Formats: sequence, structure tokens, C-alpha cells
Amino acid sequence: MSFDSLGLRADLLRAVATQRYGRPTPIQAQAIPEILAGHDLLAGAQTGTGKTAAFVLPVLHRLAEQGHPQRHPRALILTPTRELAAQVGERVAAYGIHLPLRSAIVFGGVGMQPQVDKLQRGVDVLIATPGRLLDHATRRTVDLSRVEILVLDEADRMLDMGFIHDIKRILRLVPERRQNLLFSATYSDEIRRLADGLLKHPKTVEVAARRNMPIEAVAQSAHPVDRQRKPDLLAHLIHREGWEQVLVFTRTKHGANKLAEKLTRDGITAAAIHGNKSQSARTRALDEFKRGLVRALVATDIAARGLDIANLPQVVNFELPNVAEDYVHRIGRTGRAGAVGAALSLVSHDEKGLLKGIERLLRREIPMTPVVGFEPSANPPAERDEDDERVRGRTDFAPRPRSGPRGDRMGGAPAARPGGRRAMPARGR
Ligand code: AMP
Repeated sequence: MSFDSLGLRADLLRAVATQRYGRPTPIQAQAIPEILAGHDLLAGAQTGTGKTAAFVLPVLHRLAEQGHPQRHPRALILTPTRELAAQVGERVAAYGIHLPLRSAIVFGGVGMQPQVDKLQRGVDVLIATPGRLLDHATRRTVDLSRVEILVLDEADRMLDMGFIHDIKRILRLVPERRQNLLFSATYSDEIRRLADGLLKHPKTVEVAARRNMPIEAVAQSAHPVDRQRKPDLLAHLIHREGWEQVLVFTRTKHGANKLAEKLTRDGITAAAIHGNKSQSARTRALDEFKRGLVRALVATDIAARGLDIANLPQVVNFELPNVAEDYVHRIGRTGRAGAVGAALSLVSHDEKGLLKGIERLLRREIPMTPVVGFEPSANPPAERDEDDERVRGRTDFAPRPRSGPRGDRMGGAPAARPGGRRAMPARGR
């Protein structure tokens, strides 16, 4: 299967050729023809599978085929986070480089006026986070009455973050007749309800089970260490291994700040990103990290969602996540689209249970070896995570507490708990 055989316009194929992708990924090969044919789509794909191009390319194709650009958006792409909106926006610009289509990105945390100016100049493709889009709709600085294609990207994340009411309000602002595309990495009852209400006779596509599971693409290992010694061990490893680009996960915003400061003191350029940082600070940190000016980017789970950093070689779990599925999301940042990556976890005594939960989810053991000079003490000092905002019920964007078991990964990861597993609906349901 080549890109040429998917039915895309020559000007899009030219843009794809400059990306040097070679062949379409499975989600692209399956989704693009269905979207081009005008079908609604329910797509099971996590980040790293090439899902963005799977909807951006055919959406651009359909808009370009209709000819003249119009003033009001004809395609609306909703994303859960600002970072994802920015990344999808970048992809739209890159793939649409030879097309006379205009796009705009709107998200919160930055001034309204530049977005208003852009919207007023006319936009064909609008990429938006739900809250800011509704702000614009309320002020009548955006008109959604011409939307022909609606995309919900990472719909499960949007629900996790409590956006369901915003989505429902947005649905009342777009025309009844439109094409709907719903992308989600997991399939819960909530996603099923959303899909049932949104999609008309949808085609269903799903990437091959486990193809992008980290089991194949990412070398995983762990070091046991006392919690108090983790910062020193991390600095030691960055120096010893010569990591030039490492994404480090902490559980808390405060922890991310403290660690970035410590690494900086140790001569390692570092920056922290989390929900308390301004949008411009987050964008700058990410940009500097991508350009190699920052060696260690320290992030909380939610801030890191949707980050697309090409060929990220190394991820470190400075602390293990409380939810085993988040481990899969974290290490999915590395070894993307076929590249090889490595994920290392620093595991303190009190986190052994979390590690077991992750191993159960992955159905594999993660090899654990001590680092000379950092061996954990036989009687570890009391290890209490005083900074853990999750424990205190606070997270970056204060998502709605989860009720009931979460849905399974569509790619077919084993269910973490009984009753949580659910099959995808039949193709073409
Ligand atoms: P996504 O899943 O959309 O976040 O994409 C993950 C990464 O894969 C991005 O860096 C894309 O540029 C890259 N990518 C998208 N399509 C392909 C392809 N057909 N071959 C190789 N890489 C791709």
C-alpha cells in the first residue's frame, strides 16, 4: 500500500512526499479511503500511530475539492489540550502547504484578540480546544454554521477532562448535516454513548492490535532507589548515559518544578511543563526541547498528553503513575512511528505495588537492576509523597473524577481489571 493508491489529490501527495514517510501507517490506510468516501468514522488509534494524518489529509482533500475558500470554518477539529491543538495545527499547515486553504488554532491561556483577527480574515479549517471555542462562539467571533466536517481527536481524553458538556454545546452550534470523525485510544461506555449520539452509520477502523504497544517498540527497565536519592540518580544517569533529549515524568506540578531546578543546578539544561505554566512558557519549553536547547523536559502526565516529539529516544518515569494505563501513555512518547526508544523507571520502595500493577497490565516483567552507588537501603526511610496532588485529589486541569472502570485501549491491550474490557463494535456498524 502506497500513499498514491489512497485517492488523495496530487498537491497533498506532494506535501506528504516532503515528510519522507514512505508508506501509510495502518490507521491511515484504513481511515483515509472511508473519510474520502464521505462516511462518518469511529477510529481506534492512540497517539503515535499516525492518526493525525489519517484525518487531516482526507479532510483537506474534501475541502480543496469543493473549490473556493469561504469565510467561515468548514472543518472543525476539537482537541483536549492546547499542545495537541498546536500540533494538529502544525500538521494542517504542513500537509496543506500547496492548497489555498486557511487554518487557525484557538485555545485558552493566550489572548483572544489575535485569534479574533485571524478568524475575521477567514478560515477553512479551525483547530480548537472546547472551552476557548465556546468563548469565541459566545462573543460571536466565530460562526460554526458552515461546518461540514467535525473531528473529535482524542475523544476519550476530552471526556476524561470533563469536556462532555462543552462538546454538547458545540454540537448545537454546528449544522445537523455534516461528516463526523471520532478518534479515541480507548473505548468506554461513555465513548460508546458519545459515538452513538454523534455518528451516523459510521465505518469503524482500528489499528492492528498491539502494533503500537510499547512492548515491541520500547526497551523498558527500572532501577530500585530510595525516593530521596532519585534526583541525584537521575542527574547521574543523564551525565553517564549522555542523554541529550530526555522526557521525565513526575506526578506533581511542584515536583516537576523542583526537579527541573535541581537538574539545572547540576548543569543539565531543564524545563518543566504543567498546567500552572502559562501557555507561552509551555510552548517555549517544548520548542526549546525539540530544538535540543533543553536536555531534560520535566512534565506531569496531563501536560504531556498528545506531545509529539519526533524520535524521542528516552523517557524516564521519575515517579510511577498511580494509574497503570498512564504508564503506557507515558512511554508511548518514545519509539514512535517505528523508531526505537527506551523507558526507564526509578522505583522507590513504596512504588513496588504500582510497578506490579503495570507489569500485570503489560503482561510482562520489567527488569529491575540497582545502580552502583544508589542501591536502596535495606530499611528505607519513611517514603511519603507529600507533594502528590493526585493523592489530594488535584491534577493539572482538574479532570472530573473517574466513575467506574475506564475503557480499554482499542489496540487490544489486556484489561487491567475484570469487567473493564469491551470489544470494538462490528465494522460498519
Ligand atoms: P500521530 O499519531 O498523528 O501523533 O503521529 C505520530 C508521528 O508519526 C508524527 O511525528 C508523524 O509525523 C509521524 N507519521 C505520520 N504518518 C507517518 C507515516 N506514514 N510514516 C512514518 N511516520 C509517520
